[in-house]
Amino acid sequence: MTTPSSVQSRLPANPADTGTGTTAEQRPEATVKRMLIGGRWVESRTGAWREVISPAHRGRVLGQVPEAGPDDVDRAVAAARAAWPAWRDQHFTARQRQLLKIADLVEQRADELARITAADTGNALRTQARPEVATLVDLFRYFGGVAGEVKGYTLPAGPAQLQYTRQEPLGVVGGILPWNSPLMIAGFKVPAALAAGNTVVLKAAEDAPLSILLLAEICQDVLPPGVLNVVTGAGATVGQALVNHDGVDKVSFTGSTEVGRRIAQQAASRLAHVSLELGGKSPSIVFPGEVTDALIDGLLLSSRVTRQGQSCTAGTRLFVHRDVHDEVVARLVTRMSALTVGDPLDEATDIGAIINETQFRTVGDYLDEGLSDPRLTLELGGLPPDTGPLAEGYFHLPTLFSGADNSFRLAREEIFGPVLVAIPWDDVDDVIRMANDSAYGLAAYVWCDDIHRAVDTAHRLEAGWVQVNQGGGQVVGQSYGGYKQSGIGREVSLEGMIAGFTQTKQINIQLADR
Ligand code: NAD
Repeated sequence: MTTPSSVQSRLPANPADTGTGTTAEQRPEATVKRMLIGGRWVESRTGAWREVISPAHRGRVLGQVPEAGPDDVDRAVAAARAAWPAWRDQHFTARQRQLLKIADLVEQRADELARITAADTGNALRTQARPEVATLVDLFRYFGGVAGEVKGYTLPAGPAQLQYTRQEPLGVVGGILPWNSPLMIAGFKVPAALAAGNTVVLKAAEDAPLSILLLAEICQDVLPPGVLNVVTGAGATVGQALVNHDGVDKVSFTGSTEVGRRIAQQAASRLAHVSLELGGKSPSIVFPGEVTDALIDGLLLSSRVTRQGQSCTAGTRLFVHRDVHDEVVARLVTRMSALTVGDPLDEATDIGAIINETQFRTVGDYLDEGLSDPRLTLELGGLPPDTGPLAEGYFHLPTLFSGADNSFRLAREEIFGPVLVAIPWDDVDDVIRMANDSAYGLAAYVWCDDIHRAVDTAHRLEAGWVQVNQGGGQVVGQSYGGYKQSGIGREVSLEGMIAGFTQTKQINIQLADR
């Protein structure tokens, strides 16, 4: 393997035309997927199409989806509004039955969904895509199960008054998805919004719409027309149209902090409800103690390296106590070296591909910066190979730098690549200060045998989600969301569903005057 000076200089010319605007007839019918609007599979009004490109094979076209525009958003919102009263007015057990039925159908087609999501996201089938589908099933079951918990309160206001609240749905929810784990994020939004009595227009990410369209197909067999609509296309057009549409009562966005900030401003200008799940740069704090295999496995899991680091909760700022720093780094290098990078659909693969060329280049820029900084030591990884199978896709290697401090750009910015930075620490107050010295506040991880110190640290961290001695993904029922610039609002839980997808109506009634 040669080590070129820059990742930018070595991208082969893209062998395929990956532009938009081709007609469906130019591609085999099997690769063409339409959008779901009002229970029908439709093309965009303009007739434009967008190609979906494989992250693992540069230029390989996986399929075509409609390049929707504002007109398509209009008809999707109209369909969702038309479907809303009947959906809202059902007894909760009717909505519950439908969500539970969808969970069963998703489970039956789990492998198909996992393969499609592995193909268009580049996430490895075994380590990421299958677990993500399992979480999606859990989310439909969970929100179906709690559909009856959308309850109000009665005030003890004396015998002549009946004073109570109702939790009523908001109306039409516009859900905007990122590409990094589209099925799981759809699972954070769709079943919760539907269980509470809303209807939904979902906008799939440009790069990874195929599994979302299959999910729509499964839902369509169960739900009345218009209850769930899915549109595809560019954020700047179709996403914008959804955010600015007067018929959308709530915008539920997951994506980058930069786009989220703009969406918050636009939604605020028309006083629409909005929730934001945004970026992160999560700290992982290792206290002194025995360096066990469980610790190393946990650090690896929490770093989301097997998701190419393309996770908002990736614990990639490794604060390791100086007493164990060298041992932890050495053991991590050994463990990470054993990971297989390769075709996401190969069962042997641990780490799949980066989503697209832009992200591949962005991660490459960070690597270039790390490699050219004499203060940093490259412990493992570095620039990707420029020949062989990995050069055929957007693959980066698991990479670990040491020698950083918390001021380095690699330690402050969300890289969204499999790049970890180890920073030694000596003093607990100091490491908590460093961990909190970030614009983000999504997740954090604490590794400590002393449960009292661990819990104290967890309480002092400015993050919406802290895990102690474990590093897995979100589990159904937990309150999930960010502090600071990582977001506003909570998902995944009953309380998040009530706060995020309902509004409170107070009703006061004069009864008999005694
Ligand atoms: P992105 O912000 O570029 O895009 C997200 C979605 O927004 C896409 O569907 C895109 O088309 C749409 N969009 C883009 N511009 C828009 C606009 N002006 N108006 C309306 N919609 C627009 O993010 P991404 O690159 O797809 O995803 C990666 C980012 O998402 C990372 O920052 C990651 O941390 C974050 N993320 C956060 C969470 C979380 O739960 N907090 C989960 C997953 C990803």
